[in-house]
Amino acid sequence: MSHQTLFETTGHKNILLEDFNKGPLAVQANQHVIVHGQAAMILDPGGHKVYSRVLSATLQLLGSAKLETIFLSHQDPDIIAATNGWLMTTDAKAYISALWTRFVPHFGLDQLVENRLLPIPDEGMKLHLGGLDLLVLPAHFLHSPGNFQIYDPASKILYSGDLGASVDGQNIEATDFEEHVPRMKGFHERYMCNNRAMRGWAHMVRQLDIALIAPQHGRFFRGAMVGKFIDWCEKLACGTDLLDNVYRVPA
Ligand code: FE
Repeated sequence: MSHQTLFETTGHKNILLEDFNKGPLAVQANQHVIVHGQAAMILDPGGHKVYSRVLSATLQLLGSAKLETIFLSHQDPDIIAATNGWLMTTDAKAYISALWTRFVPHFGLDQLVENRLLPIPDEGMKLHLGGLDLLVLPAHFLHSPGNFQIYDPASKILYSGDLGASVDGQNIEATDFEEHVPRMKGFHERYMCNNRAMRGWAHMVRQLDIALIAPQHGRFFRGAMVGKFIDWCEKLACGTDLLDNVYRVPA
């Protein structure tokens, strides 16, 4: 299987690329591509290890469509480390939280491309892709303080970044929610900032018509699993909710 098509209709396609992250050390990461008409966008393209393979797979998939947008959900290395390469080999614009635009250049950013790294304001925005407006939703503190998710109204897919990540390295559909929880729980308890942020997010995304939630790591949620996942997030104690035993001098 070279890639999975999560949604397809005339002039619009949502693709989950083949898993290029095989190997024991680096965390498995999903690369998603949205094509609308002749315009395309890649979400969280990944680091140096996968850069050349993701780039060639993406360009091959696009055919005559053009990569116009690179979306960076937050500042982690598995997302932004290869940003310079993507900007040097395409004419695309890259978008990341305004909190992080001055940090990306520490991975190396050529002067020729630095004006194509653009800030997303804290309140989010709409991103125009070939005649379609995608929503850039604030998901701050889930987990990064400057963190965004993408909602695509054509496919009704919510790209949730690290929220919903599961750690067994499989990029397939999660089909049994209770059985799936252990693959997510530890990661969310430690990485997500707190339940207050989770509740705010749940309230926001319930206003959207969501067919599928696609995280950056692990399995995705479709149909009835979407609501179950949102309900689970809303109730989860995590991050600063669990501080009681953290601040102890190591023995
Ligand atoms: Fe992250």
